[in-house]
Amino acid sequence: MAHDITLSLADEAATLALGGRLADCLQPGLAVYLHGNLGAGKTTLVRGLLHHLGHVGKVKSPTYTLVEPYVISGLNLYHFDLYRFIDQDEWGAAGFRDYFNAQSICLIEWPEKAGDLLPKADIDIHMSADHGAHSADTNDSAGNDGRKVTLTANSQAGKACLAKFNHA
Ligand code: ADP
Ligand code: MG
Repeated sequence: MAHDITLSLADEAATLALGGRLADCLQPGLAVYLHGNLGAGKTTLVRGLLHHLGHVGKVKSPTYTLVEPYVISGLNLYHFDLYRFIDQDEWGAAGFRDYFNAQSICLIEWPEKAGDLLPKADIDIHMSADHGAHSADTNDSAGNDGRKVTLTANSQAGKACLAKFNHA
């Protein structure tokens, strides 16, 4: 599809840099879903994004609180980690629905855990180990492979964001 972007990320620094590059393309109202197994690099990407926008200090995945809000560079950002999300009723009770609005940017790890409670993603990001990234002699089984990432836009706003990303 024309709006798919696929990249290889050789190391953690490359994932952080991608987050930074994405940060420059974000517009209020976007919902970005981060797909990939545990350890794929989703939180690392969000860390790069937030630090690029000027966040100082730690970025850890809100595994137990499910969401961490940030206000930086005039943006309202919500970083979700829904890995432990189980209670569908919690969605409404916690006010999560209100976080998806025209003024906010939502970055969501494990969106599949919330099923159809979530609105549709403007951008889907899929991350996985890139086993082909190293030659046989430098490759090892200790998880030192790089990552492969695909960015897909599903809406006009998402397409505008990735178009900007491509031309930056
Ligand atoms: P997730 O949030 O998907 O569970 P994390 O962002 O916590 O994953 O990252 C897990 C590990 O992967 C971290 O140790 C991080 O340094 C490493 N990592 C991130 N990006 C890359 C990359 N492109 N190549 C190799 N290791 C990476
Ligand atoms: Mg994570």
